[in-house]
Amino acid sequence: MAGDVADLDALGGWVREFARLVAEHRGELTRLDSAIGDADHGVNMDRGMTAAVTALDAAPPASAAALFKTVGMTLVSTTGGASGPLYGTLFLRVGTTAGEVGELDGPGFAKALRAGLEGVVARGKPEAGDKTMFDALAPAADALDAGLADGDSLGAALRAASSAADAGRDATIPMLARKGRASYLGERSIGHQDPGATSVALLVAAAATVLGGPQP
Ligand code: ADP
Ligand code: MG
Repeated sequence: MAGDVADLDALGGWVREFARLVAEHRGELTRLDSAIGDADHGVNMDRGMTAAVTALDAAPPASAAALFKTVGMTLVSTTGGASGPLYGTLFLRVGTTAGEVGELDGPGFAKALRAGLEGVVARGKPEAGDKTMFDALAPAADALDAGLADGDSLGAALRAASSAADAGRDATIPMLARKGRASYLGERSIGHQDPGATSVALLVAAAATVLGGPQP
């Protein structure tokens, strides 16, 4: 693909690459959640994303709206924990914002991702610094918008977004958790990387790899 337009194959490829990365990092995500949660984030996300890919294979979607609706609905119905509804809402909002189209350009993708972030906020009420997936997703959406506003290609903007998500993930380590199970630990949540921020970094890395075109 050209790198500045993502067609349905590429958008589906993003979801599939995310599923592959979640499976590859399943043990790590679960280990992180065992430190400040209930040791199921890797299992939850792998179950949900495996089911999402199976659903896409069974009924290939005809539009971006249909694609992300399938992913979101599957996550809501198969993924346990906080992450099922949060990721489910993220993908559902991406889909409704993308609309009945066969491809997204850079601004279209950025708008859809921003809507996904807003869905997470509506659902979980996370704020910056609460030590959640928001702390990786918000900087990624900001970096994507900033890159595109500067005239960068979608690929360059997505690579910047991926770096921002990685930095946001790492920045959760010293944070005190204020949302979700980790918040029950209070001060003892400090010093541990948030599992949801870690899976979001995989989501954005997958976008950079699949939607970003070849690395210059
Ligand atoms: P659970 O905590 O129910 O076991 P998971 O382990 O699958 O669910 O997911 C935990 C992750 O969900 C956390 O690491 C955090 O990033 C995210 N999370 C939890 N609560 C919220 C919230 N209210 N808003 C945003 N993200 C949240
Ligand atoms: Mg958990």
